[in-house]
Amino acid sequence: MEGDVTSALMSVYRQADVAFEYGKGMEIFDVSGRRYLDFNAGIAVSCLGHAHPHLVKTLQEQAAKLWHTSNLYRIPHQDRLADRFVAHTFADKCFFVNSGVEAIECAIKTVRKYFYDQGKHDKNRIITLNSSFHGRSLAAISAAGQEKLVTGFAPLLSGFDRVEPNDLAAMESAITAQTAAILVEPIQGEGGIRPLSDAYMQGLRALCDKHDLLLVLDEIQTGMGRTGKMFAFEWSGITPDVVALAKGIGGGFPFGACLATERAASGMTPGSHGTTYGGNPLAMAVGNAVLDELLKPGFLEHVNEIAAYLHERLNDFAERHHNIVEAVRGKGLMVGVKLRGIDSREAVAASLKNGLLIAPAGENVIRILPPLIVERSHVDEALILLEKTLYELSPIEQENTG
Ligand SMILES: *Cc1c(COP(=O)(O)O)cnc(C)c1O
Repeated sequence: MEGDVTSALMSVYRQADVAFEYGKGMEIFDVSGRRYLDFNAGIAVSCLGHAHPHLVKTLQEQAAKLWHTSNLYRIPHQDRLADRFVAHTFADKCFFVNSGVEAIECAIKTVRKYFYDQGKHDKNRIITLNSSFHGRSLAAISAAGQEKLVTGFAPLLSGFDRVEPNDLAAMESAITAQTAAILVEPIQGEGGIRPLSDAYMQGLRALCDKHDLLLVLDEIQTGMGRTGKMFAFEWSGITPDVVALAKGIGGGFPFGACLATERAASGMTPGSHGTTYGGNPLAMAVGNAVLDELLKPGFLEHVNEIAAYLHERLNDFAERHHNIVEAVRGKGLMVGVKLRGIDSREAVAASLKNGLLIAPAGENVIRILPPLIVERSHVDEALILLEKTLYELSPIEQENTG
């Protein structure tokens, strides 16, 4: 389904030849009216499913009032959203942007400015992890450093060092007097749903304290309830200094945020940073509506309950089919299934044909990222479609059954 369709668009995407017209909850319908079950949520974005009534009503009401004013003036929805993030998270300060990569950009600038303002002008390097992903700006690809991201785009930004994930000794030996921060995803998303262990996360916090570094977390994919807590770092009981958010934060309306402690944000003074669209009334109204739902009593309990069921079903499938599934990993409703003998991109395309949306990730992993409102019945249906898809693609199964 990935074709070389002649198109006026830059050829950067390998798009499947399907176009969707509308969605409702867990379901999405293509232009011919065919129904699909959505276990991708637009790559972990549509956390409340499609056309959620509260989000639709909020956006429509705001659209009729005011779209844009710029940050030359106060934006009441923006103030309120920031206050709510401060009330419910580690953060003391928020900066709103339009995408994930802009949240990362703000995080990197926050780090550099923090040490600069202390007169530590050489303390500006950031240690990141191999197989990480932080977005597509020059700063973000320089941070992640993966060959497929950076090839052809030199000169890159300097100031990043990289080590293997889940190896504290490697991290500590990479720290120098010039190191300002450590930047990691608690679960590497694009890299193949590879979680950092709780011990490692705690170790990073300890290293940051010991060496006077800021701990910056990219929770663009893991945040906003995706793993069963508001943020994935909560599972390891640590507190970061800076967190980048996007994806689920707008439930499909594009925006992101950089959250920080008072101390870490101290360099972000008037004139040091800014954005024309970031924190606009439309995005901020929707962001508050998303939080209304996420903060409802029982919302995260639901995520954890369904996630436990999804993991149980996938692990059961994996146990019965070692020949197809090498591992099931991830946390909450951010799940990766590492395939054996089947190409993950082919699996995603075949799954689409069977009516189930999933996404590929690195390391030959398929990513399962349903909206957080998913129910058991949807998991049951998805498992049937996924098993069917993998049987179709597995040469061994075809030998056995054919
Ligand atoms: C999606 C993603 C980004 C980039 O977000 P954009 O909105 O595409 O710029 C950065 N980091 C992680 C972990 C992501 O999943």
